[in-house]
Amino acid sequence: MSTLSGVSTVSGAPGASDISGGIFSRDSGDVWFLFKGRHLLLLEDESGQRFVPRIDKGSPLLPESPFLTLPLGEFDGLPCFALALKELPPEQPGLRWIETDMRIGTWELMKPRLYKFAGKGRQLAHWDAHSQFCPACGAATARERASFTKTCPACRYEQRPPIYVAIMVAVLRGDEVLLIRTHQSRGNAYGLVAGFLEPGENLEECVKREVMEETGLRVKNIRYHASQTWPLVSNLMVGFYADYEAGEIKLQEEELTLAAFFHRDNLPARPHPYSLNHQLITWWASGKPLPAKVTPDPR
Ligand SMILES: [Zn+2]
Repeated sequence: MSTLSGVSTVSGAPGASDISGGIFSRDSGDVWFLFKGRHLLLLEDESGQRFVPRIDKGSPLLPESPFLTLPLGEFDGLPCFALALKELPPEQPGLRWIETDMRIGTWELMKPRLYKFAGKGRQLAHWDAHSQFCPACGAATARERASFTKTCPACRYEQRPPIYVAIMVAVLRGDEVLLIRTHQSRGNAYGLVAGFLEPGENLEECVKREVMEETGLRVKNIRYHASQTWPLVSNLMVGFYADYEAGEIKLQEEELTLAAFFHRDNLPARPHPYSLNHQLITWWASGKPLPAKVTPDPR
């Protein structure tokens, strides 16, 4: 990878040679996850490869920003930072900035470990940009040193990065799984019932409610499988299996275009392999042992 004064790149592109999920083309510069609006900024070289940039401290490639520089920890020993920008950084010969919509396509450009850093940066940069003022009294906020907390100097209201919890559930009926398509479904992939946790609700109640609302089915034996951070913008997706109990499919047409049970030997296309959606379906379909139901339903 070519380097210029103050810039080099980290590649997470599938197919590139792999050093623990990223390639470092130079031995200097921190890793920067830069954002403009909802877009992650990647560098593209003349061959079309896209990279997360490494930028030396003090480089003019890091323009002035009204937002905070947010430490993300280390990736393979390299300090990583996130920063929201108002404008694109300066152009460099042989390299150009690409505004990448993290909702589509970023998984294709990065390995999961690097994507997690980008996602953490996205969540924190979004929070920083949207917590400049106190929501209670309108005063300008200040971040406390060494923590992701902003305290209003006027009324002491505290703001921390929010995380919105959502459930995702694979409803099983013998050798079949319930799959859906929504009005937002892309391509030809089928996914699982999902939805946001509501105030006053536990996760099991959320699973039952979402399945009932979207498909009219009752479920039982709800058991946790895995969770996944979902940086679009600040969600935690919690994945479950549940068994079909009763009911006929009745579509919630405002949200879904299709819901049906599919046999494990005849599954349609699934969402991206990195997604919890894909992992839940594939784990079950491949016959791996499912989590046991070991606790009673919470009250
Ligand atoms: Zn205030």
